[in-house]
Amino acid sequence: MTDVSAVVVGSGPSGCAAALALHERGHSVMLIGDSRVRRSWAGEALPPGAGDLVRSLFGEEALDSAVHREAHGSQGAWGSDELVLTDFIANPLGDGWHLDRSAFDAGLTEIVERRGVEVVRARATNPEPIADGWSLDAADRSITGAWLVDASGRGGPLVPGAQSRRTRFDKQMALIAVAHAKPSALAYTTIEAVSDGWWYSTPLPNGRAVVALMIDRDQAPPASERAIWWRVRLDQTRHIGGLVELDDRVAINAYPAETSCRKQLNGHNWAAVGDSAITWDPLSSQGTITGILMGSRLGTAIADAADGDSAGISEWERDYRMLLEEHLSLRQHYWEQEQRWPESKFWSRRCGQPQEDSLRGPLPEA
Ligand SMILES: Cc1cc2nc3c(=O)[nH]c(=O)nc-3n(C[C@H](O)[C@H](O)[C@H](O)COP(=O)(O)OP(=O)(O)OC[C@H]3O[C@@H](n4cnc5c(N)ncnc54)[C@H](O)[C@@H]3O)c2cc1C
Repeated sequence: MTDVSAVVVGSGPSGCAAALALHERGHSVMLIGDSRVRRSWAGEALPPGAGDLVRSLFGEEALDSAVHREAHGSQGAWGSDELVLTDFIANPLGDGWHLDRSAFDAGLTEIVERRGVEVVRARATNPEPIADGWSLDAADRSITGAWLVDASGRGGPLVPGAQSRRTRFDKQMALIAVAHAKPSALAYTTIEAVSDGWWYSTPLPNGRAVVALMIDRDQAPPASERAIWWRVRLDQTRHIGGLVELDDRVAINAYPAETSCRKQLNGHNWAAVGDSAITWDPLSSQGTITGILMGSRLGTAIADAADGDSAGISEWERDYRMLLEEHLSLRQHYWEQEQRWPESKFWSRRCGQPQEDSLRGPLPEA
């Protein structure tokens, strides 16, 4: 007999959604989240329509407009030098959101805790399969669950061994800073393609903005030269550089930002969800809401499986993989709109003639 029906590791958006769905189906759940492991980029965008899903699952309070800001459009210079505004007023799904991600994650965790999910604020270690489920350690104790949900994000994986191998579809990484936003940067997420890759800026609710350059990891400068290299390129942009002001000693941090998928999304009494399962190109602003959607669906599918009907897990996996296929074909469509730099390694890999190190297919396994 295990302590709980399911242990969910990772209290990011996908883990919170999975834990809540299981709890609402009457299953005992423990959500283990390590608040010390926090991303260093603070802001992200949710696309139109995402707010409705977030509020339908977590309630109105999950998107408090005193903390997060509604996004009424986005703008991009992609395929041409001109900055084009897409106003969400014409979007039937309505507005998007600019999130304070730390506050968003903490808010979701508090909501699921108030609804009755047991939350343990600690790091989970030593996951091991046992006869009737899984055991792991957290907060100086051993915890057992009939199911393990690995929602530990990109930094995972929690489930060890071959089950964690991933297919990586590109080599993209992000070089990110937080800057003072000029008023023109506060209204919209802005994207600008450049010869080395592409930039984005996303406003934060506190008058600052996240500014990031996306490049391929094998084209990145050594860490010791990164800050100057990054600032020179920011100064060369047509649009993004004019939206922000940087402190002289601003930190430029590097993060993986490739699209990838675990070989195995689920196995014997375990499943991975959110970034732990599939990571999406940040160009899509799809990661957080897909993690929430598929986390919630996974929780329901596990509840069904515990009640003797495991078909839901297969449907969940099929749909998850279908979303990835759609994502890969949509981003190929966007890449092919950018034809200005045929000599650039970043762009020729994505939309030039196929070549030896083309990124159209999966890279070798990690
Ligand atoms: C550069 C960049 C920009 C992005 N911009 C956007 C955007 O604008 N919009 C968007 O929707 N998405 C964006 N994404 C994607 C988005 O950040 C992720 O898809 C999303 O955070 C996934 O949520 P998650 O809950 O799966 O994982 P995470 O948010 O990573 O949460 C995982 C949690 O698990 C915890 N954890 C890990 N290991 C353990 C452990 N052993 N024990 C306990 N806890 C553990 C971590 O501390 C973390 O809190 C971006 C990604 C990148 C790389």
